[in-house]
Parts: sequence; C-alpha cells; structure tokens
Amino acid sequence: MFDQDKIRIRGLRIFAHHGVYEEETRLGQTFVVNATLFTSTRKGGMRDCLEDTISYADVCQFLTDYLQQNTWKLLEAAVEHTCRALLLRYPLLHKVELELEKPSAPIPLPFDSVSVSITRSWHRVFIALGSNMGDKQGYLDGAVQALKENPCIRVDKTSSYYVTEPYGDVIQDDFLNGALELHTLYSPEELLEVLHTIEKAAKRERLVHWGPRTLDLDILLYDVLIQDGPVLTIPHPDMQNRDFVLRPMVEIAPHLVHPVYQKSMKTLLNELPQK
Ligand code: ADP
Ligand code: MG
Repeated sequence: MFDQDKIRIRGLRIFAHHGVYEEETRLGQTFVVNATLFTSTRKGGMRDCLEDTISYADVCQFLTDYLQQNTWKLLEAAVEHTCRALLLRYPLLHKVELELEKPSAPIPLPFDSVSVSITRSWHRVFIALGSNMGDKQGYLDGAVQALKENPCIRVDKTSSYYVTEPYGDVIQDDFLNGALELHTLYSPEELLEVLHTIEKAAKRERLVHWGPRTLDLDILLYDVLIQDGPVLTIPHPDMQNRDFVLRPMVEIAPHLVHPVYQKSMKTLLNELPQK
C-alpha cells in the first residue's frame, strides 16, 4: 500500500578505488552515489520514531564503508553488489534504485560524468515441492531447510504436506506434495539454478519423464511475471490443472490471483473437474 514511499540520497561523495585501469585502483578517485530507498515511511511518519524507518545517515555510512572496502573493475559490478548488500542489510527496504557516478572517469574527452543506474528488489515467489521416493518427508524438509539457509532467500510460509496419487501413466509410489512462499533477490533463472542444485543434492535422477523422483522443485509464480521460454515458463504451465499444487497453494495463499487466468487459487481448485 505504501510501496511507492521513498527516501532519497543525492550526491553522496565517496573516495574509492574502482576501475579497469591499474592507476584507478592504485590512486582512487571520487565517486558520487544517488540512491532511492523504497520503504514504507508510514510507521515512522505516524510515530515519529527513528526505529520505525531506515536511517539515511546509517545508509550513507554503510555505502561509504562498503564501496571503500571492496574494489570492482566495473561500475556495473559495484552497483550490483551494493544493491544486494543494502537489501540484505535493511529488512525494511524492499526495493532500491542506485546510481553510481564517476565524474573523473578516464575518458580523454570533455564530459561531465558517467554513471550506471539499476533498480533491484525482493521478489515474491511460490514454489511447489514434491517427492515420491525414499524418505519423502525428509527430502521435502531438507529442501525447505536448504532454501532457508540461502541468504538471498527468505522463506515466509510453508504448507502442510499432502499425499497424492501419481500423475501421468507411469506406475509408481504416491507423492508427498507441498508449496511454499518465499522472497528472493534472485532472477527466475538464477532461482531455478538454485532449485536444481538442491534437487541434485537430494540425488535426484531424471530417468523417466513424470517418473519417480526423490525431489522436484518447481517455480509456480514469480511476482506477476508472465514468461514463456525454452528453459523456464512462469507461471508454471500446468499448475491450474494439478490439485496437488492448488491444495497447498490454497492453504498458504487462497486469494492470490493467477496472473494469466485472473482467478484465485481457491477458484482454480474449486473449478477442477472431480476425479
Ligand atoms: P517436471 O517438474 O515437469 O516434472 P522436471 O522437474 O524434470 O519436470 O523439469 C524439467 C525442466 O522444466 C527443468 O529443467 C526446467 O528447465 C523446465 N521448467 C520450465 N518451467 C519451469 C518452472 N516454472 N519451474 C521449474 N522448472 C521449469
Ligand atoms: Mg520440476
């Protein structure tokens, strides 16, 4: 509701050592930071209390320390890492726009300044979990634990696990399925890689399509993103047809609206043909 509130820092000057050339990393130069911090200022505004907001003085000090203690060749790398560090450090910060200017960049031509500016934020994601081999609950619990241990992921809610009959024509054991909600700093492709690493650690082997597996982790929804690609389709293309996905989703987010079908999880589940 207050997600357009912002705190702005303009023209913070920091002497640091980023650059492609050896002289730049040796001698250093002045950089200028402009930052827009997206955070609800409502609570701080109503209560007039510094603990209820992000202290801009603290952010300026953090930016200075962070950009002085690290060295990157590219402005692109400096802003990418700095945005991530800010989002990890300030829990009230949900989005940040950061511009890093280099007024003395080594360009042998008359110019005022060059800069790189990016916007980064936490993303709300829903994941489906499934297992139908061995210690199923152990595999699902292990996956939740692995996600919780990743600093770029914050697990918000986990559903109960549901026993479901296998999908498709392969004869196999029952599944245990669940869903979870998380916030992440990863892009969809980066998150898929993390999920694949967790699947691999659970010794998952892809032998038969729709066949038995120790652990299956799918991205169901990523914000309101709609994307169709060779590697990744979001929303998950089959979620609206699977009661073992919709049941746990209804438990943790009944009113969440599917961005393609424009129907809530509850409605999608109720509209499934009865088996
Ligand atoms: P399934 O989950 O359909 O039973 P797999 O887990 O073996 O099958 O997934 C096969 C591939 O599906 C993955 O390697 C991935 O590239 C692709 N894929 C496409 N969209 C998604 C998604 N939303 N979540 C997870 N994987 C996806
Ligand atoms: Mg999968």
